[in-house]
Amino acid sequence: MNYKNFPMVPRVIFGRDSFSQLNDIIAPKRLNIKAPFIYLIDDVFKNNTWLISRIHLSYDDKIIYISANEEPKTSQVDALVEDIILKTKERPSGIIGIGGGTLLDLAKAVSIMLTNQGETKDYQGWDLVKNPAIYHVGVPTISGTGAEVSRTTVLTGPEKKLGINSDYTPFDQVILDPELTKSTPKNQWFYTGMDCYIHCIESLNGTYLNAFSQSYGEKAFDLCKEVFLENNSSEKDLQDKLMMASWHGGMSIAYSQVGVAHAMSYGLSYLLGTKHGIGNCIVFNHLEEFYPEGVKLFKEMVSKHNIEIPQGICTNLSDNEFDVLIKISLSLEPLWENALGKNWKTIATPKKLKELYKKM
Ligand code: NAD
Ligand code: ZN
Repeated sequence: MNYKNFPMVPRVIFGRDSFSQLNDIIAPKRLNIKAPFIYLIDDVFKNNTWLISRIHLSYDDKIIYISANEEPKTSQVDALVEDIILKTKERPSGIIGIGGGTLLDLAKAVSIMLTNQGETKDYQGWDLVKNPAIYHVGVPTISGTGAEVSRTTVLTGPEKKLGINSDYTPFDQVILDPELTKSTPKNQWFYTGMDCYIHCIESLNGTYLNAFSQSYGEKAFDLCKEVFLENNSSEKDLQDKLMMASWHGGMSIAYSQVGVAHAMSYGLSYLLGTKHGIGNCIVFNHLEEFYPEGVKLFKEMVSKHNIEIPQGICTNLSDNEFDVLIKISLSLEPLWENALGKNWKTIATPKKLKELYKKM
């Protein structure tokens, strides 16, 4: 047996208003005055002086606002890297990503591609990155994906939606300030929060489960129940708990895998551009036969929070489009093997997947 030797985020700060310490934290990492810090920030914060005024730009430091309306693409990373190289005098001192999973993944990918030759798409896969990334900092503003702690940056390329999984991907520094999540719209709070809940269900019910993953997964699962089903936390506590649930959920899948919902939701994302959180919810809603208890609780949460889960998104798809969905989904073999065991191919047949997709 050859065990994987995983890197973890070496530095993390947690607490309300910890974001105000960002400038002090990164100052010693400035290489010289020509090597700026580049901030990649979700453009939802463009006019948010409460957040932006706490960032102190010096020398050639620069903010690049990026829309999170679409999930990150390899071509987008290539364009950002080219732009940064052209406009900076020296290789940046660091990249700071501020936003949800979309911005965190972009920050990770840009920091890798600033030190690695060629196109981003060539690094989608496992352990293809040759050179260490530049210093990169992650500041989540919505909780659930676990992107702040994971060893991957999920990107859609010309041929696949697949992460750059490498030892150089994890952030060097993460700032967990739960107050930054306070402006999250309710539906989005739920969808991204459910990403975390589904990480727990898929990890805890997977064949790859081990005590390492279980210990994180159970904690995240309990926190999700407190946040989404119970009524005894204040608004602040809810923000704190969901932020830590996301962290633990991410840690739980680091040493195992996700499962059926993620495998099928990646297909929706690739073909229809369905975003990760909502896509997972659309799929998970129909997975009783794989995760009976998990789906039951999920439906309770949906109803408690009056959330609308879209229906009928596959109604008008052609046979060719179903084939694409099924092909993308079944290509994610480790996810299926984790969910269903070594003989997963006898259960997850193209016919079975088509039946399920047709319900969505
Ligand atoms: P997101 O980053 O796409 O953001 C969702 C929406 O919420 C956007 O409209 C954004 O502008 C808005 N938003 C974020 N923070 C806000 C705030 N504080 N106030 C108001 N609006 C806010 O959403 P997400 O669900 O966090 O991330 C999804 C992405 O994460 C996908 O691209 C997915 O592939 C990726 N992902 C990565 C990993 C990983 O380990 N790297 C894991 C899971 C998902
Ligand atoms: Zn996920």
